[in-house]
Amino acid sequence: PTAPDSPFPYTTRGLPHVSTVSQPPSAPAGPAGEFLHDFLLAAARHTPDAPAVIESDRPGATTVTSYAELAALVDAYAHGLGALGIETGARVVLESDTTARAVAALLACSRTGLTFVPVSPETPRRRLESILATARPALHLQAVDGTRTNLPPALGTARFGPDGLTVDRAPAPHRPRRRVPCVTDPAYIVFTSGTTGRPKGVVMSHRAVLAFYRGMLTHRIATPEDRIASTSPLQFDFSLLNIGLALGSGAAVVPVPPHLVRWPRHLLRVLRDTGATQVNGVPSIWRQSLRYEPERLAALDRLRSVLFCGEEFPLPELRRLQELLPTARIINCYGATESMACSFEDVPRPLPDDVERLSIGVAHPGAEMLLVDASGAVVDRPGVPGEIHLRSPALFSGYWDDPEATRAALVPDPLCPESGQAVLRTGDLAVRGEHGEHYFCGRTDSQVQINGNRVELAEVERKLTEFPGAAAATALALPLPGGGLELTAFVVPGAGRTPPDAGALREFCAEALPPYMVPQQIQLLDALPVTANGKVDRAALADAAARGA
Ligand code: ADP
Repeated sequence: PTAPDSPFPYTTRGLPHVSTVSQPPSAPAGPAGEFLHDFLLAAARHTPDAPAVIESDRPGATTVTSYAELAALVDAYAHGLGALGIETGARVVLESDTTARAVAALLACSRTGLTFVPVSPETPRRRLESILATARPALHLQAVDGTRTNLPPALGTARFGPDGLTVDRAPAPHRPRRRVPCVTDPAYIVFTSGTTGRPKGVVMSHRAVLAFYRGMLTHRIATPEDRIASTSPLQFDFSLLNIGLALGSGAAVVPVPPHLVRWPRHLLRVLRDTGATQVNGVPSIWRQSLRYEPERLAALDRLRSVLFCGEEFPLPELRRLQELLPTARIINCYGATESMACSFEDVPRPLPDDVERLSIGVAHPGAEMLLVDASGAVVDRPGVPGEIHLRSPALFSGYWDDPEATRAALVPDPLCPESGQAVLRTGDLAVRGEHGEHYFCGRTDSQVQINGNRVELAEVERKLTEFPGAAAATALALPLPGGGLELTAFVVPGAGRTPPDAGALREFCAEALPPYMVPQQIQLLDALPVTANGKVDRAALADAAARGA
């Protein structure tokens, strides 16, 4: 069938049409609407024929899964999971790209009281082993065409496909300890990048996720007509934000496979073929398109909004994106995995010439950002930096099996420690503006000491990108062989401009910054390396510099 509102050819999944969401016998009892699956499948009851997931992995092959079809898949997978007899609260590693079936699989985990641990198929074996050793899952679940092999013999293994689950190896029987799923139970565990030490498993309860989704939806970022392109891998909770935003709004999610996100022509082709109206991702997803495919990007006339999260958007690239998409709303979403995210702030259009940093606004309704100075006192005055502490119903429960790290991140409310309320110590620095809005100033751990002077690396990066011809920059304090640190910067030139010259860049910085903040070394790079989640890979840059690469 061809969708009536679209010029694109569609095929549907061909699943049995269901107009109501039936509950399998294993469905947990509980207050309706309070679990992840209830919340995200509400549209299946109201608009069963509306598109829930739109996929286009190849040119000319766009597949739509309606809400009814998604709900039928969830039913089928939940029956399969329920039949395995795994105890409530057990972990299921869900290794997949974001697809309609993967969305159904994670909702089926929620439906059967199991905690899913999203992992991307590209995850290196060593990292997967570390996640398996930490999370001790009962089951590994991948798509029928998933290629992961040689999983530990004690782990159950199954695959999800068009007709349900196939079990390759049944999970070991457990004596059930929990019988009644609670909304405080973990809905999922997302493992952080682990750039600083071993990966930490961020445990999010159903209650926290729904509190976040509800807070996010008050910002009216999406309508039921939207098609929201999600460019983050499933293991990055940004994808869960996108799924929640789309399904929670009765809109469609458009997962863009990671191998296509990296190639600007492929990315833009998917966005065009699926009629995406909103594109959500880290800033780096735009870098290559801005540089090599500006005309194709500007031709996306159905695109109404762009939401970015995860790191600062280099201002030269943001201005260019505004020029190419002159009517699109651009939203700066700030936050960490420990609360999924926290704030949503529109980028002003036009961006004033003298703007130095973007506002991250205020926390979503029902939550509050507090700024706390180095002495532990709450900062109230505008312009005074402090570390963001988040008071919110959407906070994570803790790091899986890591009480020490949990204690360091969930700390007593600095305004009322007596209450027993925990707040999230984010490790992010900000200042407050005149109207109560916040400006992100970098991470506490990106403040370094150069010759005894405190240097905020983000400030150096911002100055470098003000140089005409610089599109993006990263600054690092790298150890010198004889001891001490040296400020080194990596700069990406803008498209069609004369590449900046290192000497001129240094002079430009020296005009505005104290000498200890002027990078001693500046390297020009075609592109900044990125992590699996698409953020600038500072560790890779530091490694390359150490090797003299
Ligand atoms: P990881 O620690 O693996 O990068 P997170 O996604 O939890 O995973 O990272 C959260 C951090 O990313 C925040 O604490 C903040 O430092 C940074 N961040 C997130 N969103 C923004 C934003 N819009 N602007 C600037 N920094 C951001």
